[in-house]
Amino acid sequence: MNALFFTPGPGELYPGVTNWIGEALDLQIPSISHRSSAFEEIYCTVEAQLRSLMSIPNSHRIYFLGSATEVMERVLQSTVRERSVHFVNGAFSKRFHQIAKELGKNPISVDAPEGEGFELDSFNFDHQVEAFCLTQNETSTGVMLPADHIGQFATRWQNQLIIVDLVSSAPYPQIDFAQVDCGFFSVQKCFGLPAGLGVAIVGERCLEKARQLKQQGFSLGSYHNFLELESFSQKHQTPETPNVMGIYLLGRVCEALLTRGIDSVRAEMDQKANMLYSFATSHAGIEIFVKDHNFRSPTVIVLGVNDSDKLRSELSKAGIKVGAGYGKLKEKQVRIANFPAHTTEHVARLIECLDNLVG
Ligand SMILES: *Cc1c(COP(=O)(O)O)cnc(C)c1O
Repeated sequence: MNALFFTPGPGELYPGVTNWIGEALDLQIPSISHRSSAFEEIYCTVEAQLRSLMSIPNSHRIYFLGSATEVMERVLQSTVRERSVHFVNGAFSKRFHQIAKELGKNPISVDAPEGEGFELDSFNFDHQVEAFCLTQNETSTGVMLPADHIGQFATRWQNQLIIVDLVSSAPYPQIDFAQVDCGFFSVQKCFGLPAGLGVAIVGERCLEKARQLKQQGFSLGSYHNFLELESFSQKHQTPETPNVMGIYLLGRVCEALLTRGIDSVRAEMDQKANMLYSFATSHAGIEIFVKDHNFRSPTVIVLGVNDSDKLRSELSKAGIKVGAGYGKLKEKQVRIANFPAHTTEHVARLIECLDNLVG
C-alpha cells in the first residue's frame, strides 16, 4: 500500500503527477533543447497559468531557478546593497537572514519567539532599509502572516522593496503583487511535485534596483542575477539548462488547479484546516502550537504531542507520514501539511488515526 504523505515538503504528489510524468516521457520532454521553440512554448504556457492562478500582473516577471533557497540568495544579491530587514520567527526566516549575512550584507533581524507571529505595524525602521524580507508561512512553526497584513505593511513602507517567501503556502494566500516586489516558492510544497525547481515572481522595482546596483559597480552574482534572468526570460528561456521536466509538470498541476478553480481550492484547504484545528482543540492529548488564531497557518499545522517519534512511527504503520517537529521541538511536535493534493477524505483518515493513537 502506498503511504499517504502529510509531510510539509516534499510530500504527497498532486494526483495525476505519475501519469503526467509518463506523458512527458512519451513527449520526450527531457530531451528537448532549452533553446528550442518547444521549450519557449512550455515557458509561456506555465507563465500564463501562474499569472492566472496567483493573479500576477504584467509588472512582474516569472523566473525559474533551482530552489527557493536559491531565490533567497539571488534576490538579496540582485536587489540589496547593504541593509535588508528580516522578520525571523523560525528556521526558514532565520536561513534567509543568515544568507544575507553570508553574502556580506549588513542585515537586521526582528525576532519573535517560535510559535508567534508579528504585529507588523508596531515596528519602526530608519530609512536606510532597502528591503523587508517576510516569511508568509514559517514552515518550521506553523505561523503565517495574513496576506492583508503584508499589504498594509507595504503601504507604509513604499520606498523599500517587499520580498515575501511563499514557499509553503503559494498559491493559497491572496497576495497583492501591486504591493509585493518579489515572491517566491518551490514546487515540492503546495504544488505537490518532485523537488528541484524554484519560482521567482519579480517586479519592475527589483529590476530597477538591480540596474542601479550594477551601474554603481556592485556584483549581482553571475548567471542567475535578475538582469541575466530577465534578458533570457524576454525570449522565454533561462540562462542555463533548466529543470525542463519540472517546469512542464508545474504547468500540468497549474492546469489542474485552474480547472478546479483557485477559489474552490482555497475553500477546500480552509475546510481541511478547520477539520484539523477543531479536532486538535477538542483532543486533550494534543496542543496547537500557535496560540493566536490570526497567525495559525492553514497549510502547515503544528501540534504538540507527548512523544512525536512514537506517534509518527505508529502513524507510519497505518500508512500515514507526518513531519516531525523542527529543530529542538523535534520530539515534542508533529507538523502536518494541508496542501491541495490532500482531500477531505485523506484528512478524515488522518484524524481518525490520530484519535486512536493519541492517549
Ligand atoms: C521548504 C522551504 C524553503 C526551502 O525550499 P527549498 O526548495 O528547499 O529551497 C524555504 N522557505 C520555506 C518557508 C520553506 O517551507
